[in-house]
Amino acid sequence: MPSSKKAKKKKTGTQKQGSRKLRESLTKKKDRALKILGELERLYPAPECALTHESALQLLVATILSAQCTDERVNMVTPALFDRYNSAHAFAEAETAELESLVQSTGFYRNKAKNIIGAGQVLVRDFNSDVPDNMDDLLTLPGVARKTANVILGTWFEKNEGFVVDTHIGRLAHRFDLTWSSRDSKDAVKIERDLMEVFPQDRWTDVGHMFILHGRAICNARKPLCDQCTLTESCPSAFEHEKDAIAKKKSVTKNKAKRSKVSKSGKRSN
Ligand code: SF4
Repeated sequence: MPSSKKAKKKKTGTQKQGSRKLRESLTKKKDRALKILGELERLYPAPECALTHESALQLLVATILSAQCTDERVNMVTPALFDRYNSAHAFAEAETAELESLVQSTGFYRNKAKNIIGAGQVLVRDFNSDVPDNMDDLLTLPGVARKTANVILGTWFEKNEGFVVDTHIGRLAHRFDLTWSSRDSKDAVKIERDLMEVFPQDRWTDVGHMFILHGRAICNARKPLCDQCTLTESCPSAFEHEKDAIAKKKSVTKNKAKRSKVSKSGKRSN
């Protein structure tokens, strides 16, 4: 087979397993995004941040802890943590070893404890102990990158400045084919930019929450439940995962048959 044909037949780097790319204009993509949004709103009428919190400070701390950790685990740790430390000043003055032991089970606890204490100190020193409500100031806090800042701005201050692209949002953006400049689901900056282009700004935070809810309930990473999903009409990846699994199974069987044929012919020639 000529190499150009081979290249065509082979899946491109932009095509993730279980997701499919469409050829459609930006206008059509935006229309499709609105349809997806409509159905997600029907499915998840009250989308909320999964991290338990009662103040901007608690959300900030919980978000720092959620790096490389599940929200469930963070929610198990924060009640005792917020009982012990109830203000920016309390976090600023925290004893490192004690704070580390309280957040240990969230992983990377040394770094997280250092950032939480550091964030408390900056809040006390520069922001009168209040969590700031804008991106530039938030980014001056230790442990706060754009993703964490977006969580706080969107969830607490109801300011839609961007998307919080986590593992669920990245995966769903690819499966819905709503990101065209990103090659993989971990490319948070490009995915965020693409999602910002197709969804209305006043819905960005809620879309993020709804993607996470749908990703957990139906569109799982390993085996999306397309037969239970009500978004199949708007989703170019519907049932692609099953097709991939069947194709993979066929190719394994074919390779096994080939190997056994080769080994039999080898035995005969001996
Ligand atoms: S149809 Fe639903 S479950 Fe299947 S890939 Fe699309 S969004 Fe995920």
